Amino acid sequence: MPMGSVVEAANTGANGSLSEKKPVVVFVLGGPGSGKGTQCANIVEHFGYTHLSAGDLLRAEIKSGSENGTMIQNMIKEGKIVPSEVTIKLLQKAMHESGNDKFLIDGFPRNEENRAAFETVTKMEPEFVLFFDCSEEEMERRLLSRNQGREDDNIETIRKRFKVFLESSLPVIQYYESKGKVRKIDAAKPIAVVFEAVEAVFTPADEQKASA
Ligand code: UDP
Ligand code: MG
Repeated sequence: MPMGSVVEAANTGANGSLSEKKPVVVFVLGGPGSGKGTQCANIVEHFGYTHLSAGDLLRAEIKSGSENGTMIQNMIKEGKIVPSEVTIKLLQKAMHESGNDKFLIDGFPRNEENRAAFETVTKMEPEFVLFFDCSEEEMERRLLSRNQGREDDNIETIRKRFKVFLESSLPVIQYYESKGKVRKIDAAKPIAVVFEAVEAVFTPADEQKASA
């Protein structure tokens, strides 16, 4: 095992230092404005996962004044995908620091290279992929009205983000689809209605029947 890989150590239970159990990872994917962050907050409340938004981790890295900050900021402003190495390091650090063994990884992997690098570096594979399916029209409406002070929520950058999503991120979803791992959610509905569908994905089948 390569040295210094905390997540891998957690995975194998090496040293008995972290959880002996293999961590559970769920990738939460969907276009910009499809509701990933909003629904992740609900999942955390009900199912005890730790929410790791790759975009939020990158924005925190900019704020921290790290040497990569300017590069990350420029890429986000252009809707481009930050090099895997940077994002994966931030994800590994956050997983380690959480002390939890169940993770929602939101907004990552965004391209084939992200996906392959994550698997190689962490030796982890997602339990499943939650895919928020939403029309561009609806996503654009949400992004332009959310007012979170994000530098990339302007129409020019939004168009670039949509293009990157279609060209680079959808193939990742198709890859997991071919492995039977995608749980697709109709994300164009109101928050509470979407969460009902999400809840069903996270609730074991036997419990669903019991409460029906
Ligand atoms: N980003 C990235 N790699 C990631 C996640 C995000 O490069 O793994 C960058 C990318 O430029 C993206 C921006 O961060 O457009 C915002 O991502 P976020 O997931 O926060 O936006 P969302 O899709 O949720 O609106
Ligand atoms: Mg987000």
